Amino acid sequence: MQRITILGATGSIGASTLDVLARHPDRYRVHALSAHGRVEELADACHRFKPARAVVGTPDAAERLAALLEGLDIQVDHGEQALCEIASSSETDTVMAAIVGAAGLAPTLASARAGKKVLLANKEALVMSGQLFMDAVRENGATLLPIDSEHNAIFQSLPATYARDPQAAGVARILLTASGGPFLKRAVDTLEAVTPDEACKHPNWVMGRKISVDSATMMNKGLEVIEAHWLFGAPAELIEVVIHPQSVIHSMVSYTDGSVLAQLGNPDMRTPIAHALAFPERIASGVSQLDLTDMAALQFYKPDFERFPCLALAFDALRVGGTAPSLLNAANEVAVQAFLECEIGFRDIDRVIAEVIDAVPHGPASSIEAVLAQDARAREAAHGVIARLRG
Ligand code: NDP
Ligand code: MG
Repeated sequence: MQRITILGATGSIGASTLDVLARHPDRYRVHALSAHGRVEELADACHRFKPARAVVGTPDAAERLAALLEGLDIQVDHGEQALCEIASSSETDTVMAAIVGAAGLAPTLASARAGKKVLLANKEALVMSGQLFMDAVRENGATLLPIDSEHNAIFQSLPATYARDPQAAGVARILLTASGGPFLKRAVDTLEAVTPDEACKHPNWVMGRKISVDSATMMNKGLEVIEAHWLFGAPAELIEVVIHPQSVIHSMVSYTDGSVLAQLGNPDMRTPIAHALAFPERIASGVSQLDLTDMAALQFYKPDFERFPCLALAFDALRVGGTAPSLLNAANEVAVQAFLECEIGFRDIDRVIAEVIDAVPHGPASSIEAVLAQDARAREAAHGVIARLRG
């Protein structure tokens, strides 16, 4: 029996994870579930999966959750400390890190420090603290398995013995596929006016609103380039973004002998989730088998960095290194939130990020405290830029 903690159980990844777990009650037991504000949804999941612990964002949310769970033997808590506890508890073996954004950093890092099997969906945590996070994984014997569909595909296309050394493994290139999002073909001069709902209407994937906007700006792919750098030890020059609108090939690895290995499947996050949960075994995920004869032609294009300036900003931040990626991430989180709240336009997102990166000096990412201090500075600067754009 594998005991599981899900951080972010009420989100899109959380729901897909619960769906896979429900198919295998003989293999998995839920130890703990977390949410932030969606108390009713978390209560429903608690009634179905009967975890020992449940954690929410605020004292008020905890009170409401406890009332909804009356009669069940579930310990209810709130706040970051409690999240870190359920992520590192000796009562859990595996942690699904599926909180969105920087809020996921502390508990995700706590799970790595406790040597857990960490299923990483929360890419922002790795973007912010890449070196520190990978060191924590290595020093504490944690197992890190990527949930992001591209990184899961790359993981599956690399040799089982891969040790974060592309050269030693004969890797010539990591080919990170990208759908291009909802605005791949839309006239660039009309992007200024797109609405949050248009930006969240992804052609192939149903996801939370933050990552959906990131997909529309292609910042999601930028964050994934940085994520791939840390997970696979690959320099920026080895990582190539390929637009593939059908999202059937989830990414590829090309080798020095000319071979290209890929992982394919229907676009459904339950596949990488089931892969990581059962690794190195395979279990049913509920995803239908890919019907190759039923498929439209597969297309591939080079990305247009002028249409998608966020992708260029992310490559730049990776090349600069240190705390530059955490500035990028924090400015992006604030800008996306402001866009979702209709405070700024879609194209203002990249303007805010570029200004923050220019304005806030970056340094070495020598400690989590240094990373969090940069994160705070970048957020403050981003709010300043947004206030000016609105005013
Ligand atoms: P959602 O917005 O659907 O869910 C986010 C989860 O995080 C919810 O459970 C939410 O709680 C919780 N949460 C939000 N803010 C906080 C906070 N401040 N403190 C603690 N918990 C919080 O996001 P997704 O499931 O789409 O994405 C989750 C992560 O997975 C992201 O990092 C994303 O980049 C990554 N990912 C997602 C993919 C997808 O297909 N969705 C694909 C690849 C990666 P509540 O709702 O109760 O407020
Ligand atoms: Mg992805």
